[in-house]
Amino acid sequence: PRLTAQWNLGIEKQIELSPSIPIGAGLAGLAAARVLVSQGITDLKVLEAQDSIGGRLVTKKFDDGIVELGAQWAHASGSRMFDFAADCGIISSLESSEGSGIYFYPGGKRVSQLLVEEIRNVVQDILNRCINFHYAENDTKVPSTVADFMHSEFEKYLNSCNDEEEIREMKRDLYDWNVRFEVIDNSCNTLSDLSARLWGQYGDDDCEQDHINITGGFTSLVDALSQLLPQEALVTSCPVSKVRWKSLASGDEKHPCEVVCEDGTTYSADHVIVTSSIGYLQNKLNMFEPPLPHDYQTAIKNLGFGTINKIFLFYDEVWWRDLQGIQLVWGDKSLYDFVTGEMSWVRSITGFDSVTTMDNVLLGWVGGEGAIESERLTEQEIAHHCTLVLRHFTGLPTVPDPSFVVRSRWSSNKYVCGAYSHLTPGSESCNPHPQNTLLEPLSHSKNGETSHCAVYFAGEALHKKYYSTAHGAFDCGESQARKLLKHLKIS
Ligand SMILES: Cc1cc2nc3c(=O)[nH]c(=O)nc-3n(C[C@H](O)[C@H](O)[C@H](O)COP(=O)(O)OP(=O)(O)OC[C@H]3O[C@@H](n4cnc5c(N)ncnc54)[C@H](O)[C@@H]3O)c2cc1C
Repeated sequence: PRLTAQWNLGIEKQIELSPSIPIGAGLAGLAAARVLVSQGITDLKVLEAQDSIGGRLVTKKFDDGIVELGAQWAHASGSRMFDFAADCGIISSLESSEGSGIYFYPGGKRVSQLLVEEIRNVVQDILNRCINFHYAENDTKVPSTVADFMHSEFEKYLNSCNDEEEIREMKRDLYDWNVRFEVIDNSCNTLSDLSARLWGQYGDDDCEQDHINITGGFTSLVDALSQLLPQEALVTSCPVSKVRWKSLASGDEKHPCEVVCEDGTTYSADHVIVTSSIGYLQNKLNMFEPPLPHDYQTAIKNLGFGTINKIFLFYDEVWWRDLQGIQLVWGDKSLYDFVTGEMSWVRSITGFDSVTTMDNVLLGWVGGEGAIESERLTEQEIAHHCTLVLRHFTGLPTVPDPSFVVRSRWSSNKYVCGAYSHLTPGSESCNPHPQNTLLEPLSHSKNGETSHCAVYFAGEALHKKYYSTAHGAFDCGESQARKLLKHLKIS
């Protein structure tokens, strides 16, 4: 049973005892808690800073459908998250796609679908070849970044083609679209943020790469998980400000961790599972007392964490029925001289996809610097900029204004600080690999022997194969909780 005591220390401070404390009720924290509860650790606390659980899973519900502000699709049939969702009966039969529809130059000029597919295939082939660098010997020289490899290989491809100048330029413009797409897909600022050697670390053959929808949205998955926890285990609106991981302030060697919340509540715990995003940890390294060991700090600093955002345009009527989606091929600067100043962020949009879960909505994807710039604008400004862009590219002056806009602001979310992680050239130069460092529990040792594993890190960024994803977060939360159970000799 959990004990609660009031201590009078000048300021009133509540000390609660709890054996394990997952920090963060995103997918990793909830999945970890489920494993602990299933093994009888029921008096745990999951402390969540925000006023609702789910973290980067945020479904907005409307009378006629849903939109996802965070994770959009379950990518992997065959993952543990997929199996859990399937057991809950919430795998939708609806499959989606991205980057589809008509590719427009400004002025309504349509790019041939054959050319679009050719360049997509060329880029995919280059990226598939980039995977091989992961298996190269350490002393083999490989390109430093994905950008280096992609750009030089694409130039080689162009030079091998003997195209007329106009086609060559179109291919370059479609390549630019693909670069914007990959920047979004990898949540980075530029493709120079991605290590070429580590590119092949992502994924394997066990899980299919799909675009599966969750019935009722990802929130249904969050609800299903939270229902398996004791009701009093979830504490929302409770930002943790300090993790004292070698504290014996409670006078009890069995509870060597203290977790201090912004409201002054202090939890005494045996173990803490920290699931805050890498972006958050990079900003809050000082939340640990004593400071994290140097190798943990280096690992956190060297993992990449960028921002992408989604812009949902809601219309009274569907005006793009025969287009399916509208992709933006920018081409020569003179074609879009209206894009200056505050509007420059639109250059980072790939396009606007139709949304499987809501007929009257277009979804715009924006990455890199543009994603962060978009967060400084109001919904009205975003709506206005998007309408100008859509009219300019489709050549249809009749494109209506959206009736309203719903958009994400992941960089401004102070408990997430971005969208998801990627592997940088800096991660490559860390030895051990930053994920390996952070997957090792922070422990106290006496006379060189590990006596107590105090802090476990978990979350999407630490999954060796599926970092950046929802199923990666779920898996990582579960396996770190299992590691803790093993340490406790419970399973
Ligand atoms: C726009 C976008 C699109 C995406 N699309 C996809 C997709 O299509 N498919 C896919 O698989 N994945 C996608 N992802 C990634 C996926 O959403 C994440 O990988 C996953 O949800 C991360 O889960 P997590 O538990 O690791 O972290 P989080 O969800 O960030 O959970 C961590 C929790 O910790 C809380 N927290 C942080 N600090 C503190 C503190 N000090 N005290 C208390 N609580 C704290 C946070 O509020 C948060 O709730 C997308 C993400 C974004 C942002």
